[in-house]
Amino acid sequence: MQCPNRRQLGLSDLPRVTQLNQCAKGHGAPKAKERDQKVCIRFKCAVMNTLTDVLRCRPGWVEVKDEGEWDFYWCDVSWLRENFDHTYMDEHVRISHFRNHYELTRKNYMVKNLKRFRKQLERDVGKLEAAKCDFFPKTFELPSDYHLFVEEFRKTPGITWIMKPVARSQGKGIFLFRKLKDIMDWRKDVGRSDDQKDDIPVENYVVQRYIENPYLIGGRKFDLRVYVLVMSYIPLRAWLYRDGFVRFSNTRFTLSSIDDHYVHLTNVAVQKTSPDYDPEKGCKWMIQRFRQYLTSKHGPEAVETLFRDIDNIFIKSLQSVQKVIISDKHCFELYGYDILIDQDLKPWLLEVNASPSLAASSQEDYHLKTCLLEDTLHIVDMETRLTGKEKRVGGFDLMWNDGPVSREEEGIDTSGTGNLVANTHLGCNNDRKKQLRQLFRSLHSQTKATS
Ligand code: ADP
Repeated sequence: MQCPNRRQLGLSDLPRVTQLNQCAKGHGAPKAKERDQKVCIRFKCAVMNTLTDVLRCRPGWVEVKDEGEWDFYWCDVSWLRENFDHTYMDEHVRISHFRNHYELTRKNYMVKNLKRFRKQLERDVGKLEAAKCDFFPKTFELPSDYHLFVEEFRKTPGITWIMKPVARSQGKGIFLFRKLKDIMDWRKDVGRSDDQKDDIPVENYVVQRYIENPYLIGGRKFDLRVYVLVMSYIPLRAWLYRDGFVRFSNTRFTLSSIDDHYVHLTNVAVQKTSPDYDPEKGCKWMIQRFRQYLTSKHGPEAVETLFRDIDNIFIKSLQSVQKVIISDKHCFELYGYDILIDQDLKPWLLEVNASPSLAASSQEDYHLKTCLLEDTLHIVDMETRLTGKEKRVGGFDLMWNDGPVSREEEGIDTSGTGNLVANTHLGCNNDRKKQLRQLFRSLHSQTKATS
């Protein structure tokens, strides 16, 4: 893939250097001497893909290799684990993960936190509010919850379950089953003594109720990949990206062949190994196309409700870890949410990814990801151009700012319920270039007026 130029990234009309003529260190108004210095933001990047293209094309940003000092590091989670606690970071430095991101992004921890949060809501607010957390399929951790799982299994004979290793991704190690004997290995583990358990560590899995009635398009199952950017947990400040995509399985859905991964797992990593996979064709839809498709089938009201329920998933899942995640001002995180929709138009949260794939599988995918990353960097704002009051930056809308954010233009809901209209636009028009042009122009003239 070629490095996109400024026009492709929607940057060509933005003020080029003035915004960067501030010292990268220290947010706030630059001192006169600093203003004259040319800004150089030193970045490191742990992966080689769309992200490197975007970082390298960003005006004033310079790549640092090996042990060189950096201001911005798009690190991988293993670097974080080994280095975060021993690394001193200046005020202005930013890195791409929160210290204990796994509280949300490991399948078992995510469910544990959601269950705890649900209980807390039931206690503090009531059953109705707690029921808003019922968006993840019934889940048990194995081997620790094996007995609880067996109890549940016996209560609901004949249904399908899915086993997923907690620390793997891309569909690896996943299988479906309907009989207890299919998970014998874990049953054996429950019977082992503690000494034996130390010898061969057992891989932890979650076992989850399989959604047997997924919404189908053209007979195929799919899930949604949606991007949420968290800039802070305390207070919770989260942005939702307008674009995302729908990932289809390559093979028509059926419950009669539960061993066929091409039918049941919608991961691109799985589907692209299918013999008739064509990346430019059938496997992905932009989320806008999906929203339009649903609207034509079910009408705008049903679709509004569905998308409101999806917003609820983002907020509740983030709130469930708000007090657990170490909120550090140096950290931000771009999450990839995986959401499945069933035939009743109910959305289910499958997983939250800390390192959503930024590799592109087609031109359209490349475009989406470069724009997403550009807008992420605008919000991270190493260049200190934003005022902090923005509700929209490019394709991102501020969805939560220590409380729900309402839409600027609409304000109060006219339905008579007094509810605010949420500032979320998933699957709506993403006129990011125009918005960025306006935003940076007005910021530029504000800066000029005050200098
Ligand atoms: P991974 O981290 O390996 O991608 P996921 O939890 O995202 O694991 O599951 C992989 C795929 O399996 C999903 O994209 C989805 O198609 C399918 N899947 C996972 N859990 C369920 C479930 N409970 N019901 C139906 N399908 C599921």
